[in-house]
Amino acid sequence: MSKGKIGVSTQDLFPIIKKFLYSDHDIFLREIVSNAVDATQKLKVLASSSEYKGDVANLKIRVKADKKAGTLTVSDNGIGMTREEVEKYINQIAFSGAEEFMEKYKDDKAAIIGHFGLGFYSSFMVSDKVEIITKSYKDGAQAVKWSCTGSPEYILDDTDKAEVGTDIVMYINKEEKDFLEDSKIKALLEKYCKFLPVEIIFGKKQEWKDGKYVDTEEDNVINDINPAWTRKPSDLKEEDYLKFYRQLYPMSQEPLFHIHLNVDYPFNLTGILYFPKIDNKFEIQKNKIQLYSNQVYVTDSVEGIVPEYLTLLHGVIDSPDIPLNVSRSYLQSDRNVKKISNHITKKVADSLNDIFTKNREEYEKKWDDLKIFIQYGMLTDEKFAERAEKIFLFKNTEGKYFTIEEYDNLIKSEQTDKDKNIVTLYATDKDEQYTYIDSARAKGYDVLIMDGQLDTHFINYMEQKKSDHRYLRVDADVVDKLIQKEDARKSDWSEVEQEELRTVFSSQLPKDNAMFMVNFESLGENSEPLLITRSEFMRRMKEMSQTNPGMAFYGAMGDNYNLVVNTDHRLMKRLLEDEKKKMSDVIAPINFEIKELSAKKTEINTLNKDKKDDEIPQVDKDRLNEYDNKISEMEKQKEDLLAGYALKNPIVNQLIDLALLANGLLKGESLNKFVKRSVELIN
Ligand code: ADP
Repeated sequence: MSKGKIGVSTQDLFPIIKKFLYSDHDIFLREIVSNAVDATQKLKVLASSSEYKGDVANLKIRVKADKKAGTLTVSDNGIGMTREEVEKYINQIAFSGAEEFMEKYKDDKAAIIGHFGLGFYSSFMVSDKVEIITKSYKDGAQAVKWSCTGSPEYILDDTDKAEVGTDIVMYINKEEKDFLEDSKIKALLEKYCKFLPVEIIFGKKQEWKDGKYVDTEEDNVINDINPAWTRKPSDLKEEDYLKFYRQLYPMSQEPLFHIHLNVDYPFNLTGILYFPKIDNKFEIQKNKIQLYSNQVYVTDSVEGIVPEYLTLLHGVIDSPDIPLNVSRSYLQSDRNVKKISNHITKKVADSLNDIFTKNREEYEKKWDDLKIFIQYGMLTDEKFAERAEKIFLFKNTEGKYFTIEEYDNLIKSEQTDKDKNIVTLYATDKDEQYTYIDSARAKGYDVLIMDGQLDTHFINYMEQKKSDHRYLRVDADVVDKLIQKEDARKSDWSEVEQEELRTVFSSQLPKDNAMFMVNFESLGENSEPLLITRSEFMRRMKEMSQTNPGMAFYGAMGDNYNLVVNTDHRLMKRLLEDEKKKMSDVIAPINFEIKELSAKKTEINTLNKDKKDDEIPQVDKDRLNEYDNKISEMEKQKEDLLAGYALKNPIVNQLIDLALLANGLLKGESLNKFVKRSVELIN
């Protein structure tokens, strides 16, 4: 028997392990099993070069919990260790500058573990005592037992062991009793060891018998030793990729398509990425890309390694070249990692281009689900945007798909305005904006459907990129003015006429949380008599404010609309006539009086033109005040009269309601009133 002291430069290795690594203690099992895998593979290598003559065909790793003894044991048939090797690899831990490093990386536990090859020692996070019982593959090697209770002292002794290999026996401490539970161990093995290249066995396969699960004779193998990503793409069928996806995310819908990554120069990277089908936001966050290093699970937080917009993808990336055990900020500045990230971007874009060129029909079928990824990528990554420009698709209201270039060519002749801008029209809701889509189409325009979560941002992006392109929602203006080919024709109604009719309409418009501006335009006798449009600018600002706290100002504002009166329309002409006939007798004297009062005001103002405020005689000030009050009174009177007229005129209300209805703005009581009035009008 020999006793000794573990060769570390600090006395306090164990407290440090426990203190800093505490919250991440799950990973001890990964470390111990990974060591067993390494040992097994080393033996296979030796066998292949005939340095080892034994049988390596059936090497397995077994994980066993013994609740009574309170132990968790990981056994392998790998190369084992001689006494000298235990002394060298286990006892002499290179541990220089330990404390300093620990302090620096105390929030990055993975870094600490990896940096010092603390792999094996992580078992002390959960154990009071750890034993290594090991026998080297070397001829005539003596098996040894190393034992340590978590202080720097250890015991190393000869022991009996029949087979070559190593057992790591962990005496799980009281607070960590969980790690002796089958369910807990199974969960850990499935998380970290699911794709390790050597079979890991934990218990027996179970079967359902007589109303309960019972063990069978067959070993329960935890892992798939040849996961799809480690195989050649040419050996895999579509079904294999789907099967692997289900292995990774058992409860998820089938993905749209996959990309097999396979690089060995200038860095080593394999993996399979899937474009998932996303039904809701929740789904996106649930499944994540998993990062492996030689089939050992490392993490599912791949930020920094995979470009931000691709973190929404699913699948696996495996690269021994990613420095896994360093802090995130270091990772992002690492040149190798940057190269890897760029490569992934390129590969993803190339694959998409490939599918698009080879099978456009299939691509179009999947486009609606794919769109959000591509948009996200284009909005956040310039390089990707360049590569994706040719494979971005627009979809129009008829369900046809076009590339950006195809679409420009389609609309160029009809939808270029007088300033040579190409105007793209879009709708965000086919049903709600039906009237507008319909009249735009009747005019020979095409209309896109832009109803995605990122569409508003994407439109802004496109406008910034191409200064001669404008995007307008179909209801942003009356159809004739959406794309102005020449200067608009002015209405031939006089100021006074316009003002009176403005009051007539304003008085009947809804007042709550919406602002209407009444405008008069000459749109031709065949256009709608009355239309509601919504300023593109204000609407977009408001929409963007919902995802951008800095724009809350716009969000708090009511909705702004324009009510456009088409003065060419027969009904409008008739309305104006009717209003004049019925109202001019009462309105004319008021107008006359307002004019008189205004004239008197002007007279006083001219007299006092060059005087400062305190030089104007008080009488004049009083009179001005008096006239102002009178004018407002008269205006009010006029307004009331016109409102009274409007209220009694079913055509005014009917036209307003029809315009509101066409915009989905007529609801509840107002809708009810409209229906009743319509019936009365028919009668
Ligand atoms: P690392 O694996 O990073 O080198 P560890 O502390 O996990 O660090 O292990 C130290 C060394 O101990 C290993 O490099 C290996 O030589 C040896 N070792 C650990 N576990 C085993 C095992 N199951 N079989 C054979 N050798 C082992």
